[in-house]
Amino acid sequence: MKAAVWYNNRDIRIEEVPLRWPGPREMLVKVISCGICGSDIVEWYRLPRAPLVQGHELGAEVIKVGASVNRFKPGDRVFIAPKVPCGTCSYCREGHFPQCSEVKERLPGGFAEYILVPEVLLEKGTYLLPESISYDQSTFIEPLACVVRSQRLAGLKDGQSVLVLGCGMSGLLQIQLAKRKKCVVVATDIIEKKLAYARSFGADLAIPAVGDVPKRLTDYFHKKADVVMLCSSALSAVEQAWACVDKGGAIAFFAVPGPEKTVTVPVNDFWTKEIRILTSYYCGPPDIQEAMQLLASGAIDVERMITHRLPLEDIVRGFQLVMSGEEAVKVIIKPHAKGENAGS
Ligand SMILES: [Zn+2]
Ligand SMILES: [Zn+2]
Repeated sequence: MKAAVWYNNRDIRIEEVPLRWPGPREMLVKVISCGICGSDIVEWYRLPRAPLVQGHELGAEVIKVGASVNRFKPGDRVFIAPKVPCGTCSYCREGHFPQCSEVKERLPGGFAEYILVPEVLLEKGTYLLPESISYDQSTFIEPLACVVRSQRLAGLKDGQSVLVLGCGMSGLLQIQLAKRKKCVVVATDIIEKKLAYARSFGADLAIPAVGDVPKRLTDYFHKKADVVMLCSSALSAVEQAWACVDKGGAIAFFAVPGPEKTVTVPVNDFWTKEIRILTSYYCGPPDIQEAMQLLASGAIDVERMITHRLPLEDIVRGFQLVMSGEEAVKVIIKPHAKGENAGS
């Protein structure tokens, strides 16, 4: 079968890789849709495991199940989490699922025609897709679950004021989820098209990231933001986060600047203001369940975020689109489709 092997962002090769039939507790799935994630293009994060087949936001069809597999059958539509926590270690018991020390198996990458699902992922990380979630929409389950988790960790409450820095796919999901909680949302980005998206997904105010964001924000809220969601890796966004958070508020690093950049925290100022700084990484099973409910009920509109559907052979272009961020929001790879804009 064909798989897109990632060496770095400029070197992704379609290679022929061997495929074997599933063992008794494994199953074979056909990848129908797989989203390119903002984290897939972060080289410092991905390069240590390269060359690898990326792709962890996927919807797939079950083709063949092992003799001991009862929960699934050929034809089932599924989402598979990229890795699953054990549920019993001290981290899992405290709800820190992404920190589970027992994670052994990762999902083979979804930028491939087929995936052989390992036993542990089949047992604990595979979810049947409800009728109301299409394959393309299923590529949002994992990113939305991460957003659900970040808002919970940040303690986001109904009716709060929220600043979302960066309106890529994650920022737009942050906006929609915060609006569901009746929050007032200000969003920033450097690209005007992303600001238009932000407005159309409910942002009360969407402003250029290059302007005087703290002033525009306080003019609008008449105070600073209760929660700041950093969905941009720009250092300037971090500075804006420091300047825009209210007393008693929280700043969540949903994206980070990268290891080559130094972030200076104004901790003395934040001390007296009781400002929390937190990070949010990946998601856990409860977040996935919640994200699936949100998508199944149509509460979060993801369809309008899909800007590109590309066949596997065009994956280099897909990565370029995500890296430039100019015209693409969500790019979905369709490994079995042919030609430009490969339908849904
Ligand atoms: Zn992702
Ligand atoms: Zn665990």
